[in-house]
Amino acid sequence: MSVLYTGKGIAFEYRLGTQSVRALGGVDLVLERGGFYCLAGPSGSGKTTLLNLLGLIDTLQTGRLQFDGTDLAEISEREKNRIRRFRIGFVFQNFNLFPVLRAEENVEYFLHRQGVPAAERRQRVAETLKAVGLWEHRHKRPAEMSGGQRQRVAIARALAKKPDVILGDEPTASLDQETGKGIVDTLATLASNSGVTVILSSHDPMVLARAQHVITLRDGRIV
Ligand code: ADP
Ligand code: MG
Repeated sequence: MSVLYTGKGIAFEYRLGTQSVRALGGVDLVLERGGFYCLAGPSGSGKTTLLNLLGLIDTLQTGRLQFDGTDLAEISEREKNRIRRFRIGFVFQNFNLFPVLRAEENVEYFLHRQGVPAAERRQRVAETLKAVGLWEHRHKRPAEMSGGQRQRVAIARALAKKPDVILGDEPTASLDQETGKGIVDTLATLASNSGVTVILSSHDPMVLARAQHVITLRDGRIV
């Protein structure tokens, strides 16, 4: 298996005026391609901060982080944008779907913005909506779908990018247990079938039980 992320001594502080809050205090990690990882730990332990760094949403302050062999400190903002846009899929807790767009249009929207040609877009939309079991619901708008179905649209949208990695910050937190289980199983299957790396934060025991690798954080450190 090849390595997707290598992190060494990752530390991060939020600065609020003269105060600073240490969110990560020196994290080392190696995350392999195709792995299904869960970042666990209580609220405030640094899960979201670490995901934001892995997603290139926040910039590393201390330590080193490599994505697919590229040191993120050595590339331009423009290159980071490209990685974020083309190689990383995000699945948020509150889905972030466009309410006026149908399921298939929600999936297609970003592909359109990325300049993927129409025929290829249609193919990726069909492929990913089928992969998450939503093809029959492709014409529905978010308001006509259940929470679990919306989250599946969000997963299809992330997958349609053909990303190297899907990052999810507590993606099951607003779903009931049964629906959440379905979502996690879908992601686990995708990770093993398509080789996409999946990294979720969660403190849900059901998610932890299904993850291949659990990385537990406490006070900004791996325990
Ligand atoms: P988790 O996702 O595990 O709940 P976070 O990464 O959100 O943890 O937070 C880690 C620490 O950083 C906590 O002490 C939290 O209060 C602090 N923190 C998170 N976001 C901010 C922010 N925007 N400004 C200041 N402190 C923050
Ligand atoms: Mg969080």
